[in-house]
Amino acid sequence: MQVPLLDLRQQHAALREELREAVGRVLDSQQFILGREVRRLEEELAAYTGAAHAVGCGSGSDALLLALLALDAGAGAEVVTTPFTFFATAGAVARAGARPVFADIDPVTYNIDPAKMDAAVTRRTRALMPVHLYGQCAEMTGVMRVAAERGLPVVEDAAQAIGASDEAGRAGALGAAGCFSFYPTKNLGAAGEAGLVTTNDPALAERLRRLRVHGGATEYHHDEVGFNSRLDTLQAAVLRVKLPHLDRWSDARRERADTYNRLIEEAGLAEFVTPPHIRPGARHIFHQYVIRVHGARRDALTEHLKAGGVGTKIYYPVPLHLQPCFAYLGHREGDFPESERAARETLALPMFPELTARQQEYVVETLRRFFLA
Ligand SMILES: *Cc1c(COP(=O)(O)O)cnc(C)c1O
Repeated sequence: MQVPLLDLRQQHAALREELREAVGRVLDSQQFILGREVRRLEEELAAYTGAAHAVGCGSGSDALLLALLALDAGAGAEVVTTPFTFFATAGAVARAGARPVFADIDPVTYNIDPAKMDAAVTRRTRALMPVHLYGQCAEMTGVMRVAAERGLPVVEDAAQAIGASDEAGRAGALGAAGCFSFYPTKNLGAAGEAGLVTTNDPALAERLRRLRVHGGATEYHHDEVGFNSRLDTLQAAVLRVKLPHLDRWSDARRERADTYNRLIEEAGLAEFVTPPHIRPGARHIFHQYVIRVHGARRDALTEHLKAGGVGTKIYYPVPLHLQPCFAYLGHREGDFPESERAARETLALPMFPELTARQQEYVVETLRRFFLA
């Protein structure tokens, strides 16, 4: 049996006709940049996330960059974030002209530890940037407390967490700005690049709308220097077809996560691997289902699963403080031990809404043969 890490073909097959119709409508209109489809998508996603405003842009990476620039967290600023995330998080900070300042993660959730975030704040800090990794909100009650005490805005990297929530509220509606990605493999995926920023602040929304069109409120008149990061009308049309299905897909992912947890427990694997922890009160949308492999056996297990036809991936093998491009920050191995340990020990298993019970049984049986055969 082959179990891919992700299979998007089934989702597409179910929506093929609707998608063709939506794309055909945009082609017929010959309007490809922003426009009505984008405005409608922005309204629908504002409603979906519970934020007052939503501003579409070119990608999740650009969403982060736009949010930082709109909050004046650019040149000369420091932004506190996690080293255990996709590169774009800290990449956006550097692109904005600011300095990424890292704070280590909670080893149970893999999300930034609010106490360590607090300890990393200096006079130069202009924003806090938690990441809702794998689809579970960072501990936002703690993050928002630090933000309030320090008087700092929060930029949520919610690229992996559309529809997630915790006791503090919904991803993207909690901080000053929420940043989403519609990269094709995200839970809500476009047919190319797309992103969006949410905010409750009307002035910030206006500034984001300016910054995505070279900083001009009216054509050819520029109040500040922005850049070009608009949302394609075609992508908006595709996303509007998919959005009504998102909650059902996320629920299916959650059910599959429960199934994995049960199968792992029943197979007697609890001493070998730790399944994902769901914080009480959290709605985890399982963008990824990530296990921790005990006893320095992650890489051997990866090979075994591959040989058995099971797709896996490591998110992420090198924590950002150890990336060559951030050598100027002066970090060494050992600076963020929990991020480094997570990079050595974690592994993502196949996760998508159409994953079958048979496939999940096969994945866990393949795991069992590695540890117990
Ligand atoms: C995907 C992702 C991004 C970047 O989104 P793109 O649309 O690929 O630019 C940023 N942060 C995290 C955590 C992501 O997973």
